[in-house]
Amino acid sequence: AQKRVPFIGANWKMYLMPDQVIPYIETIKNQIPKPSETQVMIAASPLYLWPLLKHAVGSDVIIGAENCDYHDTGAYTGEVSPKALAEIGIQYSIAGHSERRHYFDEDPTIVNKKVHALLRNQINPIVCCDETLVRTETNDGVHWVVSQVIAAFKNVSSTDALKMMIAYEPRWAIGTGITASADEAEEGCALIRQTISRIYSPEVAETVRVLYGGSVTPKNVKALMAKPDIDGVLVGSASLDPDEFLNLIHY
Ligand code: PEP
Repeated sequence: AQKRVPFIGANWKMYLMPDQVIPYIETIKNQIPKPSETQVMIAASPLYLWPLLKHAVGSDVIIGAENCDYHDTGAYTGEVSPKALAEIGIQYSIAGHSERRHYFDEDPTIVNKKVHALLRNQINPIVCCDETLVRTETNDGVHWVVSQVIAAFKNVSSTDALKMMIAYEPRWAIGTGITASADEAEEGCALIRQTISRIYSPEVAETVRVLYGGSVTPKNVKALMAKPDIDGVLVGSASLDPDEFLNLIHY
């Protein structure tokens, strides 16, 4: 996987409180690798994005969004505009996190609309594809992860596909402390890459970064990152403490 720049993303979800946010970014901002070696992102609540961007100025920490709406602007009370995200300087956003799919009924069509909204606003989507405990199949007989990948890329050009990252995040491994073994994670990530190859081409599949997420810790990250189809990780629980996240980044 070494032609692709490794990517390590924190997903704070709805955990950190306002007094923790600035000390966190100040702790990590000058201690991360060069972006040519590893890109490091913090995805945070929209409440914190502007102050985080301000404090990240001059460092290589990428500040990302956890979610956004699929309309640019309009009468959508309580939603987050992707256009506004772009205008404050956000360049990456998660789309279709398992918790969004599970608790907020985001189906693959909605996730695809979010992908298009992000791309038209020059924000790079990080699409999460989940997997339930049993490797269930859809009515079409297609593996559930594969069907989510196909849906995420619907009507996306190959040029735009290159701007995306796809994360394999088995739902049973998220926030549970149960990590997929490095082999299981590799199997899911390889399946995603094969699917991208089938949709576009082997060249596109060789360029798009595929991530693993689900109970990644400083202890297991090395084995995961050593796998050929795992280009990076998304980290929830182990990203909440800046020192633990730094340990994970410098595995
Ligand atoms: C996530 O939310 O993307 C995630 C992987 O969470 P955790 O690391 O807590 O399993």
